[in-house]
Amino acid sequence: MKKFMALLMAAVMCASVLTACGNDSAASESTAASESATESTAVESTAVESTAVESTAVESTEDADVAEESTEAVSTEKDVLVFGTNAEFPPFEYLGDDGEPDGFDIALIKAIGEKMGVEVEIQNMEFASLVAATGTKIDGVIAGLTVTDERKEAVDFSDAYYEAVQYVIVPTDSSIATADDLKNKTIGVQLGTTGMFIAEEIEGATVQSYNKAVDAVNDLNNGRVDLVIIDRNPAEVFVSKFPDKIVAMEGAQFGFEAEEYAIALPKGSDLVEQVNTALAELKADGTFDALVAQYIGEAE
Ligand code: GLN
Repeated sequence: MKKFMALLMAAVMCASVLTACGNDSAASESTAASESATESTAVESTAVESTAVESTAVESTEDADVAEESTEAVSTEKDVLVFGTNAEFPPFEYLGDDGEPDGFDIALIKAIGEKMGVEVEIQNMEFASLVAATGTKIDGVIAGLTVTDERKEAVDFSDAYYEAVQYVIVPTDSSIATADDLKNKTIGVQLGTTGMFIAEEIEGATVQSYNKAVDAVNDLNNGRVDLVIIDRNPAEVFVSKFPDKIVAMEGAQFGFEAEEYAIALPKGSDLVEQVNTALAELKADGTFDALVAQYIGEAE
């Protein structure tokens, strides 16, 4: 209760002296959070929570017990957590036959929610909007999202749950084979992805970004781009649909470095600890491996 009062006071101070709560982006974040509160269950708890994000960040490094208490407070305040994804990234997320998002990430976050004792709702959005929406429109992101330093400025990441790498998809008759061959080419990518960031660094490249990765692959099939750079597993799924037209090549061949997928959560959120605990339990009890086998299959 003392803790709650402290947070409430922080909220009041925050409201009266906006500048005391940090920079402009923090201010606009909390405005957005209270707007979205009208849609969710409790106006009050959302308001307190958005303030708590900043103050608990300091406390949790000082005192583990206090951090644990506040973890409980957050989880009982929200019975439903909304996770954003972009269901265009098989086998991690795609639209199932019923039109609802399905895939490894969706099954994983639902299993995490079960361990945390909260209900998980999935919001299908544009990939490029996911990180910025974290903490306002959505409570977190699960989207085959690679941990990057730039994204870490906007969100906190859970422990990594999957190792990935960018692949290169080319027509079967293409002569592209080395990093040098990528220069001066027209490259299809999905907007806002690490594949796009890599493409933008390639000398002389014309980068064409698409909201849906599958559209980049379609344009590769139509000869509108020379190659597509995309994460390994979706590359393999897309290529398997047109095996006589296109082929996926390992990123290591082009000097691409390994990436790690993790769940993005609001900066300073106690949810990070809870998600990590749930993830560790799912790994220990075999659920995680079962989901890998079900959705991704054995790694080659
Ligand atoms: N792993 C890539 C990234 O984080 C692509 C993710 C995606 O397209 N869903 O940028």
